[in-house]
Amino acid sequence: MLSVIIPSYNEEGNVERTASIVGDILRENKIDYELLFINDGSADRTWEKVSAMAEKDRHITAVSLSRNFGKESAIFAGLELCSGDCAVLLDCDLQFPPETVVEMYRIWQQGGVDIVEGRKKSRGKENPVYKGFSLLFYKLIGSSGELDMENASDFKLLDRAVIDALNAMPERLTFFRAMSSWVGFDTKKVYFDVADREIGDSKWSTGKLIRFAVNNITSFTSAPLQIVTVFGVVTFLISIILGVNTLYNKFFGNSEAGFPTVIILQLLTSSIIMFSLGVIGYYISKIYEEIKQRPRYIIKDVVKKNGERELGRNSKHKYGGK
Ligand code: UDP
Ligand code: MG
Repeated sequence: MLSVIIPSYNEEGNVERTASIVGDILRENKIDYELLFINDGSADRTWEKVSAMAEKDRHITAVSLSRNFGKESAIFAGLELCSGDCAVLLDCDLQFPPETVVEMYRIWQQGGVDIVEGRKKSRGKENPVYKGFSLLFYKLIGSSGELDMENASDFKLLDRAVIDALNAMPERLTFFRAMSSWVGFDTKKVYFDVADREIGDSKWSTGKLIRFAVNNITSFTSAPLQIVTVFGVVTFLISIILGVNTLYNKFFGNSEAGFPTVIILQLLTSSIIMFSLGVIGYYISKIYEEIKQRPRYIIKDVVKKNGERELGRNSKHKYGGK
């Protein structure tokens, strides 16, 4: 069965339409499914609508969070509550094309692929300033070299093994897009065009976006900390050159009394301070990584000497029912 997780925040104009369009497409393609609406503390009539739909339609489950926790939390609530053999994440505004869900499901069904990842072919209508910042953002996140995040989106189909692996990640500050690529597994990409939102407005204010970016950069990369270290090293090099120059002037040229000492002290202390800040930052980033208590590795599959296969902790569905 396929679980479709749909985070919904103030989407009263969309939920019914989304449910019927997605439901129709999946039934047409004879895919067993459940729609899981996660109402993320909406202030409008979203909850009334989804709960009424859930009462009528056995394919629909509606869940309501106690307040607006943000899309990330809604996604993870959905991952924990879904019961499918695989799950796909869909935006309530249908900016992710439902036809692609079928394509993703078929790829998963053929086997051998645990994550089918939607990559944006085009980014839809977007403010160029946002576009620039989002490019920079993904560059930074990807700078650790572990993750390839270019044009990544939340539009992903995950096998049960991956869902369990994500549910086992104990951290509180989650970033689905990056975490679902951090867990590894066999991934295949499909490309899609982002449709325009037809009903309602984007739920992201500029402030929310900035907070999201800062949160995720600090969760996923320590690159900004290294910038201080680099500055420290650069100032130190400059301080050596200027220091030699100042000393030369003091002994062989003409310099004001006292000035060489001030210059040299300034340069040295500032470079030392910056450098040590960088070092401290480095340790902080290690502490941060440790307290996240992520699993050290995730086992997908084991083949033993006698040919017996064993499932990784996260692969219990792999050879069982599917
Ligand atoms: N969303 C949510 N909680 C929030 C903000 C958004 O559950 O605090 C949901 C929203 O209902 C939609 C999806 O996340 O289903 C994507 O939101 P939106 O379309 O506003 O984002 P955009 O497409 O502009 O990035
Ligand atoms: Mg949208």
